[in-house]
Amino acid sequence: MTCDKRLDVPEGMRKAALDFPSELPFEGDDPLPEDVTCELDKHPFGDHVALLRDLGNEFIVWVTWKADGLDADADDIKVQQRAVCKSESPSPDGEDLRCWLPEAHRGGHAWERYL
Ligand SMILES: [Zn+2]
Ligand SMILES: [Zn+2]
Repeated sequence: MTCDKRLDVPEGMRKAALDFPSELPFEGDDPLPEDVTCELDKHPFGDHVALLRDLGNEFIVWVTWKADGLDADADDIKVQQRAVCKSESPSPDGEDLRCWLPEAHRGGHAWERYL
């Protein structure tokens, strides 16, 4: 089960996410989400993490925010570029069996949700 904690992404953070150089052509860049949900498995501690922008070349811009409270304090929101985890499912059938969460993430790999 995933964490599913929501965050309204502040305008300044979306701007910051656009400052990272992308390997993708501009038209391949989807509009940044205005609100996001934590992509990790349910976790009692630590920052929430959500995908903001795919840079191509195995890098993704993530927004992270602190766990406590319904409304995250803007000071606790960070935008950072991290490499993709790259863990692969041992079963070769099916699609999306590579983990796309940030490297060294908490909880299970994304592909474990599809087994
Ligand atoms: Zn979370
Ligand atoms: Zn993973």
